[in-house]
Amino acid sequence: MSQPESPLFANATILEAVTRQNYPAATLYVVATPIGNVCDISLRALHLLSLADVVACEDTRNTAQLMTRYGLHKPLLAAHQHNEREVSDKIIARLRAGERVALVSDAGTPAVSDPGAKIVDAVRLAGLQVSPLPGASAAISALSASGLVHDRFYFVGFLPSKAGQRDSLLQSLPAVAATLIFYEAPHRIVDSTLAMLAAFGPGRKVVFARELTKLFEEIHRCTLGEAAAWLTADTHREKGEYVVLIEAAAETAEDDQLEAKRILSVLLKECSVKQAASLAAQITGQKKNALYQLALQLKGQVSDEDDNQ
Ligand code: SAM
Repeated sequence: MSQPESPLFANATILEAVTRQNYPAATLYVVATPIGNVCDISLRALHLLSLADVVACEDTRNTAQLMTRYGLHKPLLAAHQHNEREVSDKIIARLRAGERVALVSDAGTPAVSDPGAKIVDAVRLAGLQVSPLPGASAAISALSASGLVHDRFYFVGFLPSKAGQRDSLLQSLPAVAATLIFYEAPHRIVDSTLAMLAAFGPGRKVVFARELTKLFEEIHRCTLGEAAAWLTADTHREKGEYVVLIEAAAETAEDDQLEAKRILSVLLKECSVKQAASLAAQITGQKKNALYQLALQLKGQVSDEDDNQ
């Protein structure tokens, strides 16, 4: 049976639209690549990669593999988290010589929990052009399929690997009135989920978006109270890449936090952080731990104000 003609590549109008566009020289192009499915790359991204003089990439082997799939062969320049500052100088020199430089990471959008931001910063500081070629991002893909309805989202990214720092960051989030988006490694998914349960309580909805766009993609929605059982019910779930989303706090939680801030600000003028958190917990009925973290933040602000008086 003959294959149906691809509507994309048979369509001269689309090809013409891609190639007709202006891709100025002496520009750094930040190019999104697939997060799992090799087909998730835009036509513009492919065209730009074919025009680029050099491709700066997180891992030259991964990028070479992707480029080969599309019949592209370009000089590659390693640009990873350990050499972003040094490689920026090389990229700036190439841009000043009038080259087009493409910047890619191993997966998804560069500079989003990936190397790239320092390079873009340096190129901008040098007064040179930077242009994005948008495409896949695990965070936005997961959000779009989560069904968590809210106008705002808050991208947290990876949690700190140390438990103390992780817990204190989580304690600062329960009242945030926005869908929360986390990236997590499979070997930490159960521990982090238990830490989220401790911070947010068992009733909060959570979505696990695992292996997006890949063969074994799974998107599961439950409450944090049910989450550990789901994660441990299948050993495959200890593997793969995860985006974790937590439903936004109800708007009233934002009001509660404003009230807690008001009360803590008064108490902190007279009491220690610990006493203020304890009294505020009795007055508001909110969790002492979360109030303690809030009091610590406010204490910094109160002493700054005192210093300025
Ligand atoms: N720059 C990328 C982006 O735009 O999404 C993110 C890179 S970050 C180093 C890698 C993390 O993104 C993984 O640990 C995982 O949390 C998430 N991720 C990447 N690909 C994914 C996928 N296919 N499914 C679920 N999560 C993914």
